[in-house]
Amino acid sequence: MFEDELKSLADKGLLRTIKDRSSAQGAVIRVDGKELLNFSSNDYLGLSNHPRLIQAGISGLETYGAGAGASRSLSGGAEIHARLESLIASFKKTESALLFNSGYSLNTSVIPAIATEEDAIFSDELNHASLIDGIRLSKARRFVYRHADVGHMKSLLDSTTARRRIIVTDGVFSMDGDIAPIAEIASLADESTWLYIDDAHATGVLGAGRGTLAHFGVKPSEWIIQMGTFSKALGSFGAFAAGSKGLTDWLVNNARGFVYSTALPPCVVAASIEAIKLISEEPELIERLWKNRRMVVEGLKKIGLDIGVSVTPIIPVLLDDVRQAIELSRRLLESGIYVPAIRPPTVKRPRLRIAVSATHSDEQIERLINALEESTKAFPPTSASQAP
Ligand SMILES: *Cc1c(COP(=O)(O)O)cnc(C)c1O
Repeated sequence: MFEDELKSLADKGLLRTIKDRSSAQGAVIRVDGKELLNFSSNDYLGLSNHPRLIQAGISGLETYGAGAGASRSLSGGAEIHARLESLIASFKKTESALLFNSGYSLNTSVIPAIATEEDAIFSDELNHASLIDGIRLSKARRFVYRHADVGHMKSLLDSTTARRRIIVTDGVFSMDGDIAPIAEIASLADESTWLYIDDAHATGVLGAGRGTLAHFGVKPSEWIIQMGTFSKALGSFGAFAAGSKGLTDWLVNNARGFVYSTALPPCVVAASIEAIKLISEEPELIERLWKNRRMVVEGLKKIGLDIGVSVTPIIPVLLDDVRQAIELSRRLLESGIYVPAIRPPTVKRPRLRIAVSATHSDEQIERLINALEESTKAFPPTSASQAP
């Protein structure tokens, strides 16, 4: 099946394949019997293999069993589901929080539950695919504004009448590593203009782990909905929506990914609880992440590579064509370093995407920079001269 279509993807260098590990996630992983220095994971703090998360998972498993057995509405939830929700609400300083099975499931359930054909959604052009899909599933009218361009967004807002206008944006953009101008956007939020922030890459990273609003020192309000995931910096799995009690009560009744899907396994919930406690008790974890991020950026700038607008631990090396991205990624892999090439349609401009973790050592970061210097010498990006 799909022989011709797959061949055509392969011919264009766009064929995706799966790379599975035989080790835990971490700074060093084992793939196809080979040890790789890993700069590809969103496990920013190395929590997925942290002894405290593992122990919490084991006791969750022993107390509540392996699977949840039903949706939350039908006895699928254990007391720890509610405990994690109140922990998240106090961590995010919101009235309430509700768990979902993944960030993808949350965005594709919550957006259609809050926006109807009477409403209008204003979406950043670089929003994550799960937001785009959620917006498509809703019946609201959609307006796409230029990336992080609040002026453009305002002009679209001003020219639109609707019962409710909902601004939807990533907090941290997953392919460029820049941060949405949330302070400015949040000042627009009121009873008829809501703000929906996807903090998948900001949770555990920005604002002492509390996300983009906290990073800008903006207080949560009734009109701001924050989603975050446990699957990235928090090293576990699942997602949460944080906001007013009215919001979460509505979602319990209307979000299809909540109503029609089995609750998260209790061991996963237990690990998420431990992750939130851990980042609150050990702020040096997040400090180490940012120190590593600075070290990688200094190294890349020294060798003249273009990291675009990145200001977070997501660091793209921008390139001009797909084959160059694939070739550089292949050369790095040969020297035992995994840095994925990201290509269209995920991004317009091909790139290597470096994801830094708190668990990378100084020596590992030096190895990355040296290997990049070697491979780009052999295969130089034509845009290197434009590097800042
Ligand atoms: C990863 C990601 C998601 C999806 O979260 P999962 O828990 O992996 O399903 C949603 N939004 C953004 C911005 C993401 O980067």
